[in-house]
Amino acid sequence: MRSQCNELKNQALIKSINRAKILNCIRESKTIARAQIAEKLGLDRKSLTNFISELQQEGIVLETGKLLSGGLGRPFTMLEFCRDKLVLGIAISPDFVHGVRMDLYGKIAHSYMCKDAAIASDRERLFRAVQEVYEKLKPHGGVMGKVGISLPGLIDGDGILVDSANMPSLVGLNCKSGFSFINEEVQVEDSSRAALLAEKWFGVARTVKDIVFVELGTGIGAGIMINNRLFRGGGHFSGEIGHVTVSSQGGALCRCGKKDCLETFISSPALLRQINAALGSSYASLDAVPLEVADKIVPLLSEAGAHLGRILGMLINVLSPNLIVLSGPLVSRFGGTVLPSMERETEASALRHCFSAVKILPSSLSDIAVLGAGTLALSGLCEVSGYYHIGD
Ligand SMILES: [Zn+2]
Repeated sequence: MRSQCNELKNQALIKSINRAKILNCIRESKTIARAQIAEKLGLDRKSLTNFISELQQEGIVLETGKLLSGGLGRPFTMLEFCRDKLVLGIAISPDFVHGVRMDLYGKIAHSYMCKDAAIASDRERLFRAVQEVYEKLKPHGGVMGKVGISLPGLIDGDGILVDSANMPSLVGLNCKSGFSFINEEVQVEDSSRAALLAEKWFGVARTVKDIVFVELGTGIGAGIMINNRLFRGGGHFSGEIGHVTVSSQGGALCRCGKKDCLETFISSPALLRQINAALGSSYASLDAVPLEVADKIVPLLSEAGAHLGRILGMLINVLSPNLIVLSGPLVSRFGGTVLPSMERETEASALRHCFSAVKILPSSLSDIAVLGAGTLALSGLCEVSGYYHIGD
């Protein structure tokens, strides 16, 4: 009885893996013929025909024009995703909720943002903002049953958000059942990990299997991917590099309660404080600091790069990734000064062989937080967690 049960489970698993592979094949190729999918995936034509019929009935895949095969055989009928099938991505940040509606190729169709600085500490206001974004973007008919939500926080193995240095309103939230006003299936993930997924699917990390993504913003965190799989660690809280102690000065108190965390030196608010103190200015954000000012704060920016480099050196020695992707205003705005000192310090901190195996690149994606949330939703269609992931 048990072995029969296991066999049924295995059959169901194989079916869901093949379905995800077919969807991913169409996603990567834009348009593709049945015979080309069968050849790429090594599937027999009969079972492929069954899968495609099922996807056509669900309105996910449609037949488009015919393409000549180039030889004497019959012309191919090409397949593509129905553009009316959509997923939603919602990115929660300390002072805004940003949502996008995207098609199954990852193309953003509509975007909506609700700004409210109170959501960081007020759960009710936060839920109202998420609901507003959801209602604005929810298409009337045709949507796939998937919504991805990214947020800044530590999510444990039971899906409970146990800590968030930047958003106390999230602490204690059950990520599996907390968004009950959303009718579709919801996939929730920490924002650094969701952004890493976006880099893997659409950015500079597309062909790489072992990646570290570093988010340098209000908070600092890392998403880690090993062999195409997100790595959470046994404790589920991997990647908290923002709260690694980088000095023994006993200086600034971090929001986590410790002193001298990386965030107290190079998070966006920490850097802004240092820049305003050095220049006697009162810029409200890093984006408001004019680029020509960078020349006047070279030592400050170089020191920020060096702090980052020492942590990257440690990550490289421990994980030996092939690619590190850096995102945030520290890199996008001040990369000209920050990146050379970061690179020098990384090389000095890491072992020579580990350093020579890794590339460090800035992110090429804009709106990566919300793109990451949308990618979470797409991942629910084109991947089978733990069994099949893009790049396999
Ligand atoms: Zn800290």
